[in-house]
Amino acid sequence: MSNEFFGKLLWVDLSNESFKEEKLSDDIYRQYFGGYGLAVKLIYDHMKAKIDPLGGDSIIGFFPGLLTGTVAPFSGRYMVAGKSPLTGTWGDSNSGGYFGPEIKKCGYDAILFKGKSSSPKYIVIIDGNKEIIDASEIWGLDLIETDAKLKKKHGKFVKTVGIGQAGENLSLISGIADNKGRIAARSGLGALMGSKKLKMLVLKGNKKVLINNKDIFFNLVKKYNETAKISKPGLFTGLILKRVPNFAKLLRIFKIGLSGSAGLIKQIYRTYGTCVANTLSAETGDSPIKNWGGIGMYDFPYKMSKDISAINIQKYKIRDYGCYSCPVQCGAILKVPELSREEITLPEYETCCAFGALLLNNDLISLFEINELCNRAAIDTISTGGTIAFAIECFENGILTTDDTDGLELTWGNSKAIIELVKKIIKREGIGDVLADGCKIAAEKIGKNSEKYAMTSLGSEIAMHDPRIFKSLAFTYAFDPTPGRHTAASIDFIDIGPIDKFQKGLTLPKGWKKNEKLKVKGQKLTTCFHQAISSAGLCMFSTQFGPYPFLDLVNSLTGWDMTVDEILKVGHRIQTLRQAFTLREGIDIAKNELPGRVTGHPPNEKGPTKGISIEYKDFYKKYCEEMGWNPENGYPLEETLKDLDLKFVIKDLY
Ligand code: SF4
Repeated sequence: MSNEFFGKLLWVDLSNESFKEEKLSDDIYRQYFGGYGLAVKLIYDHMKAKIDPLGGDSIIGFFPGLLTGTVAPFSGRYMVAGKSPLTGTWGDSNSGGYFGPEIKKCGYDAILFKGKSSSPKYIVIIDGNKEIIDASEIWGLDLIETDAKLKKKHGKFVKTVGIGQAGENLSLISGIADNKGRIAARSGLGALMGSKKLKMLVLKGNKKVLINNKDIFFNLVKKYNETAKISKPGLFTGLILKRVPNFAKLLRIFKIGLSGSAGLIKQIYRTYGTCVANTLSAETGDSPIKNWGGIGMYDFPYKMSKDISAINIQKYKIRDYGCYSCPVQCGAILKVPELSREEITLPEYETCCAFGALLLNNDLISLFEINELCNRAAIDTISTGGTIAFAIECFENGILTTDDTDGLELTWGNSKAIIELVKKIIKREGIGDVLADGCKIAAEKIGKNSEKYAMTSLGSEIAMHDPRIFKSLAFTYAFDPTPGRHTAASIDFIDIGPIDKFQKGLTLPKGWKKNEKLKVKGQKLTTCFHQAISSAGLCMFSTQFGPYPFLDLVNSLTGWDMTVDEILKVGHRIQTLRQAFTLREGIDIAKNELPGRVTGHPPNEKGPTKGISIEYKDFYKKYCEEMGWNPENGYPLEETLKDLDLKFVIKDLY
């Protein structure tokens, strides 16, 4: 490859305040792409097993995808990776916005941090100059205040990401965010930055990604963008579009899925963002209700969920917002006079559900305020909402009283108390300190049998989609190396944007929906393909918008001659190494179990999930066989490791 900076990483040692560049061979990129593929290879190699994730030997890195920094549609993502201090497993987390491309513009495919500073620091890389700077002036500030100060000092064109008060306070549910609320939220990686006393990364670069075959690459992009253009909706589409969030009851009654034509889905994303699901998912059974113990149509019925509907949210929208190089732009900037702030960002569905349906809270303004608080402090809204649901259930059942909660009446739907509790968690103040590391750790501190209300997978609060609707979510929630995620390529969930309609030449087994053997094969393909496109930096939503020239873009960028099979092998390798990392930590992931409520044990007696219990362990065994892993313990077999060029793992696992 003739690429000017392919192959260059930056290591930052915070203990002795030094920088070191490292070159990598082209083979590594062909085997791992970028993003968390490259992350797992580098961190597996450079970090010993079983170290304290918050200690000086721990590594945290920032990894843009293989296509990031180019104009390939949806390719602007970067991943943060390290050992999760929340679950003890492999940890990675993914964010859009504009920061990923800036890492590439600085000439790096990754920036990794090791060591620990004794006082707050931030790093600045501007047009090739690198500095580690005292951060005492910005330590304690939220991310909007911090970004404003840093732009004043380093120029308005710098891109910044970092931690807010949550990460500074080593909250194990803290993330890493930019000033527009784009957050790498999961895995608790904000605490890794906090433990290193690293507040922010400030970047501005002037390099361009060099493209091997420009004509082909730019033609592909042009052609895709022409078809992806979102035109003004016609009369019929316009009518549907106006009413989509109101269709909730119809979807439930007629059991209509959430998928549709790529064109319409694009329009829906542009118009409403993911919060279009606020009403739809609450009504159809997809949203967890009342800490997973309720049923949407009874406990959070349409007359409540419509208060937080996308139609109501849209009334506050002043403009579209989205990530770098994205033709859809599913975000938005809102003006909410009740909050007396100039502008805020659109909350995502996950946030609206975690602080809405999950807590029986239909106070829309409170959702705006909570979203803003969490983004500014960079704390994971799924985990924070899940932890507050746990606290409310403890309170409702007398395990916590106002003596424990600093006087807060933690009852279902009490939005004022919920807002106050979010603030306390961020500051680790009073009851907030008990809850700041998620509900599994809170239950250990509180005792009194409270763990039965902690809805986590290995300590990670479970995301806002019910496996009784998307069945294979139970398997990914339990067994992905990063547990509890909805973004781990569960085939039923991904079916909203099936991968065989996205990538030409990729075929899911016909009839997989009705035949478990075929479904397992389809799951392997889905898992592997998703590892590859994520590591290339693509947004997960991109598969919902119709055919995409992924393979051709990769080949024209790099000059490789990859096939779909080789891409799947890259994904297989990445997922196997993520798995090996978690196993090397001594975590017996195959024995993990989800709380009974999440899988319908016992089943609901009424509602859309009536009578449904999900069995997911047998599916995992079959998936392990398909992946070439031992079905009893999830260990990749030696021959699989050899076939995937992962021989270096054998000595660690055998
Ligand atoms: S669809 Fe939304 S999240 Fe995905 S890249 Fe576009 S703006 Fe970002």
